[in-house]
Amino acid sequence: MYLKSMTLRGFKSFASATTLEFEPGITCVVGPNGSGKSNVVDALAWVMGQQAAKSLRGGKMEDVIFAGTSGRAALGRAEVSLTIDNSDGALPIEYTEVTITRTMFRGGGSEYRINGDSARLLDVQELLSDSGIGREMHVIVQQGQLDAILQATPEERRGFIEEAAGVLKHRKRKERALRK
Ligand code: ATP
Ligand code: MG
Repeated sequence: MYLKSMTLRGFKSFASATTLEFEPGITCVVGPNGSGKSNVVDALAWVMGQQAAKSLRGGKMEDVIFAGTSGRAALGRAEVSLTIDNSDGALPIEYTEVTITRTMFRGGGSEYRINGDSARLLDVQELLSDSGIGREMHVIVQQGQLDAILQATPEERRGFIEEAAGVLKHRKRKERALRK
């Protein structure tokens, strides 16, 4: 399994549709300060279901929508599609290629699609949760996060391990079932 491509439309500084193609192995994004490198990483976290505006370096969720520049008007929606190669079947879905799309409208919530079919955030989270690219923080190591892991409480540390081991999904299901 590897990330094949990602298309950003109206996401942060990417006003026009922009497609990034990835190969298996390591990808390095280089560019001058402010050119959008971190925005690419934010897009990756966002399409996989990130719910915290702060983790996306914004004040509110709508901050991911292109806010306009002196030469270009703001847009009304942001959309990111991530295509994952699943020929090794690492994702629990009967497709060799999986495209996850998240769309957000100004003033509205998020919509998700998996291979074009409307999906819930929960479906996206469950699809990814055993793959090692789930939504939790140790997948995307941001500045200062190594310190956070080193300084975590035993409970927080247990959470990191549970997600890596794939049991977090079951614990969350259990919590949901108990709430009903
Ligand atoms: P550095 O090397 O300093 O880390 P970077 O390449 O990671 O830079 P980013 O943080 O990805 O840069 O991009 C910052 C740019 O994105 C800023 O110019 C900022 O104005 C722009 N930007 C962020 N959110 C939006 C938005 N919603 N609409 C338009 N532009 C945005
Ligand atoms: Mg950056």
